Amino acid sequence: MTRYGMVMDLTRCNGCYNCFLACRDEFSGNDFPPYSVSQPNTGHFWMRLVEKERGQYPKVKVAYTSVPCMHCEAPPCVTSARDEAVYSRGDGIVIIDPHRAVEQRQIVDSCPFRVIFWNEEKRVAQKCTFCAHLLDTGWKEPRCVEACPTGALVFGDLDDPVSDVAQLVASGATEELHPEYGLGAAVRYIGLPKRFVAGSAVFGDTDRCGEGAQVVLTGAPGGQVLQVTTVADNYGDFELEGLAADMVYRVKVSAPGYEARELVAKTNTDFYLGDVVLQPVLSPAAVDGVPGGRS
Ligand code: SF4
Ligand code: SF4
Repeated sequence: MTRYGMVMDLTRCNGCYNCFLACRDEFSGNDFPPYSVSQPNTGHFWMRLVEKERGQYPKVKVAYTSVPCMHCEAPPCVTSARDEAVYSRGDGIVIIDPHRAVEQRQIVDSCPFRVIFWNEEKRVAQKCTFCAHLLDTGWKEPRCVEACPTGALVFGDLDDPVSDVAQLVASGATEELHPEYGLGAAVRYIGLPKRFVAGSAVFGDTDRCGEGAQVVLTGAPGGQVLQVTTVADNYGDFELEGLAADMVYRVKVSAPGYEARELVAKTNTDFYLGDVVLQPVLSPAAVDGVPGGRS
């Protein structure tokens, strides 16, 4: 049996808002009984894009997280509603019946993800339907997925082992936005913003960018020993992503012919190590200050 789900690969998202606009285009001014009535022109974000500024100057970046209804397996919105005004379909899609849900404002507050919106004019709670009105007429994916230019959104049947969405979930690379809610979300994520450590390697003798410097980060988040390696780019910049918060990591920066540097990064926030200046390994001659070396 089909069980619809979606994977949001945030490492591919460039924040273009096409998914949000496609959703708005589909539902604003359009009624799709018995799935939904039209979305108001302002104030509703059935596909919400959350922008989060990350890092410390000068290493600052923005993470975009797209957040629709999670179409939970154990949805509290269903139990909050009277007269079966919210229900889960056999394919896992959770629908707010636009007629039965009239004047049931409590439905809005039932969702811990805050993805249900109140339509003041129509006096009804509303949210993402995974474009069920289109799927039921043969569409393979919702409008937001079709509109995404980067392939960040993947939609399909979680119970079909050869579907892209099922294979992404089976790979172990995805996670829920809020697993602590324990609701069994059918929407999962790759690349949710966690913490990153960045820095810039510099060769101290020439003051040139430390291109090719090796960077090794070690730590023990959750008691598990972690070692991650990367290489500084042609600007000497390096970055290690997806780290646990509130940890202390050791970062070793090294390059052939240079003394290695070891630094500490605390991930109570994204951490910028600054310029990591590598000094050349001194020859015995230079150590003794004697032309021709030791005698
Ligand atoms: S995300 Fe919220 S609105 Fe969607 S199914 Fe879960 S509880 Fe209901
Ligand atoms: S359409 Fe795709 S790339 Fe654009 S904001 Fe949405 S998820 Fe990101």
